[in-house]
Amino acid sequence: MANRIDDAGHGGSDPGAVKNDQQEKVWTLEAAKYVNARLKELGIDSAMTRTSDVTLSQNERTNKVKKHAKCISHHYNAGGGAGVEFIHSIYSDGKFEKLLEEEFKKAGYPVRRTFTRMLASGKDYYYMHRDTGATRTTIVEYDFLDGPNFPKLKDKSYREGMYECVVKAVCRDEGVKYVAPEEKKKAEPKKEQVKSETIEKPKANLKVDGYWGPLTTKALQLYLGTPADSIISGQYNTATTRQISGVHYGKGGSTVIRALQKLIGAKVDGLIGPETVRKLQQYLGTRVDGVISRPSTMVKGLQRRLNKGNL
Ligand SMILES: [Zn+2]
Repeated sequence: MANRIDDAGHGGSDPGAVKNDQQEKVWTLEAAKYVNARLKELGIDSAMTRTSDVTLSQNERTNKVKKHAKCISHHYNAGGGAGVEFIHSIYSDGKFEKLLEEEFKKAGYPVRRTFTRMLASGKDYYYMHRDTGATRTTIVEYDFLDGPNFPKLKDKSYREGMYECVVKAVCRDEGVKYVAPEEKKKAEPKKEQVKSETIEKPKANLKVDGYWGPLTTKALQLYLGTPADSIISGQYNTATTRQISGVHYGKGGSTVIRALQKLIGAKVDGLIGPETVRKLQQYLGTRVDGVISRPSTMVKGLQRRLNKGNL
């Protein structure tokens, strides 16, 4: 069970706010899906209350949320105003919302306020706080559909920039190193980018465990179009090759390693050593130390990319 859950506000028969031909429920789902996928990419497991345009009653929604320690409820605002709002429970210390504020401000997004709201009865005003028990629920209102920033909101990359701020704040909250999506893209050589767009690449189904074994080798071979025998042949017995299972020692190097070296811009000799590992780490955007650990973050990155068919 994931510790966290992303809640896409509204949905189905409840469109949320509808202003300027924009239904709130469409963008709340976009936000929840974006944040959820990015968190998973960074190794932070998070569930979702809905993944499509379905109706959820208050009870259905809060029952899902209550099963998790932390919830972000994604919303867009309406009613006249400008800037992002963060709302927490009257029982919460608001520390996470401070992190959100910091990240949005750092990225140059207008922040309106962080606040709590109480009923006359002394209970939380919003049911997402009132009826979700011990779950720390944060409502994020990503600016106003009927406010002066709406023209900017129509730009998807502007919206995704906001979602990325949420990802950064969650990383800080969870103590996980943040890696920007662009860093990975930047590392890819231009030529190969064109190639992967024009040719459909196979997608592997590897367990992302950080151990480089025969299945990872085979997926790499299928991806790079070299003979798929699950073996890295022609290697010396070194500190690097001993970290990979399914290596055959001998001379002459390996075809799949040669193809990999070509892709990542390493010296093409067919031998996997610290220099190739460093280049691969740079390419994948993981820590560059030239070492394959067991498990290895670099190998996890490789497995993930092979699973997506997008090395
Ligand atoms: Zn809403």
